[in-house]
Amino acid sequence: EGLPNRIHEVIDHHVGATPDQPALIDDKMRLTYRELDRTVGRVAEALRALGIRAGDRMMIVSENSIPLACLLLAASRLDVWSIVVNPRLSPRELDQIRDHSGARRVLLTAEVSQEAATHAARYEAAVQDVGPLRGIAVTGLNLATVAEPVEADGANQVAVLIYTSGTTGTPKGVMLTHRNLLFSARATASFRKMAADDVQYCVLPISHIVGISLLTMTLMIGATVRLVAKYDPAALVKAMTEEGITILNGVPATYQRLLEYRRNAGLPKLDRGRLRVISVAGAPLDLDLKSRVEQELGLPLLNGYGITECSPGISGVRPDNPRADHAVGTVMPGLEAKLVGRDLKPVAAGEVGELHVRGPNVMRGYYRAPALTAKAIDPDGWFNTGDLARFENDALYIVGRTKEMIIRSGFNVYPAEIEAVLSTHDAVVQCAVVGRPVEGNEEVVAFVQLIKGSTATAQDLMAHIAPQLTSYKRPSEIILMDALPATSTGKLLKHKLAESLRG
Ligand code: ATP
Repeated sequence: EGLPNRIHEVIDHHVGATPDQPALIDDKMRLTYRELDRTVGRVAEALRALGIRAGDRMMIVSENSIPLACLLLAASRLDVWSIVVNPRLSPRELDQIRDHSGARRVLLTAEVSQEAATHAARYEAAVQDVGPLRGIAVTGLNLATVAEPVEADGANQVAVLIYTSGTTGTPKGVMLTHRNLLFSARATASFRKMAADDVQYCVLPISHIVGISLLTMTLMIGATVRLVAKYDPAALVKAMTEEGITILNGVPATYQRLLEYRRNAGLPKLDRGRLRVISVAGAPLDLDLKSRVEQELGLPLLNGYGITECSPGISGVRPDNPRADHAVGTVMPGLEAKLVGRDLKPVAAGEVGELHVRGPNVMRGYYRAPALTAKAIDPDGWFNTGDLARFENDALYIVGRTKEMIIRSGFNVYPAEIEAVLSTHDAVVQCAVVGRPVEGNEEVVAFVQLIKGSTATAQDLMAHIAPQLTSYKRPSEIILMDALPATSTGKLLKHKLAESLRG
């Protein structure tokens, strides 16, 4: 049989070969491959009946659930672009995405969460059955929207439009084609050596690229996806022992909360059951957290690096070649990478440079933003990640982000380095380092969240880090906070902190 060309085709082979294998499981139901295929077919028919056509954008407001997965695959069958949105977004953020994308209809899984139901009520969306899916709220038809042209080569059709979480402050609609998504999913599944008996715990939101990628790669293998609407470490622990979870992917906060739960619940040890792969991506990995997770679970925590614009796979640490440090592994086969300086010329071996990549996973562009797209992708197809990195042998290290780099009295300060040192203090839960502009120069300021009940002071932290950092890297100020602003995936919103310094 031919390789899948579009994301809904990843199940085709398994529907014939292993029809009774469980494909999707959520809190309420489970679908085998045969059932999934039928459900998606009937949902696609229902979407057509709702007036949704090829080239339309369709917004799906939902937490991870079987209805969400079925809507996404059905949209793919119709050559419709999906925009999956987290119901935890504010009304303003939701409206912004709806308006910018020109969605034909908005579908909300009103029965999955109160948040989605609240948005549904605000939109006066009617609750109805969409094929066999119940409790889906559907907004009125947007007659003013115009369908995008449909690509002759289906693999080049846009599959999803992802509005990035916006840790840098400007939400952008990233257009990812079927080819983009399938390339990244295939590469990741292959280096994790995924097999049909794997059960993937999908707790990262499908509204985010990592969630979409997990769903796609697992179905591609004919394995099982356990969809989780809301992260609860207690439920994860239960699923590990009772549901035979084999692969867990998280952001650092996923593991942080798992360890906290274990401590607070007074459990002597975590029983990992069949778990064989644990991986982490999305934000710089704290080495202290890494070693504690590895001790608890008895498995190496595999770091991976990606970005929405690359669907997201750029590099990963392989289970058969784990690393003790914070390297993000080797670059995916089929992807080219180079490090360049400010003059855009390649830097010398071992030096830090801005990471540019080229390959089949690089996005089509930012929707309705050609100038932004041209800034991100050069005429030769190189995409600028905006991350500063270096290579050591073959291993890639992320050093920081170009836009976050602080230039203090002519010296480059990488916030990630200061954060890593601060994190070695026992009382620090998380921290963020940003620049404060002062009279044509920049100062280094650190925001720190301490463990509840800790009596540590800013002076204590300063005394802890000073011997480990040369003077220009030391923060001029350390500000203690109860909580740091973060996105739904736990990524810190540094621009908010930077703004608070200016305001
Ligand atoms: P925006 O594009 O608006 O800034 P965002 O930062 O949330 O939003 P994502 O695509 O979600 O965009 O995140 C990608 C970024 O996350 C990378 O560019 C990199 O800075 C960081 N990142 C991802 N994985 C890792 C990792 N393993 N180690 C260090 N940094 C990482």
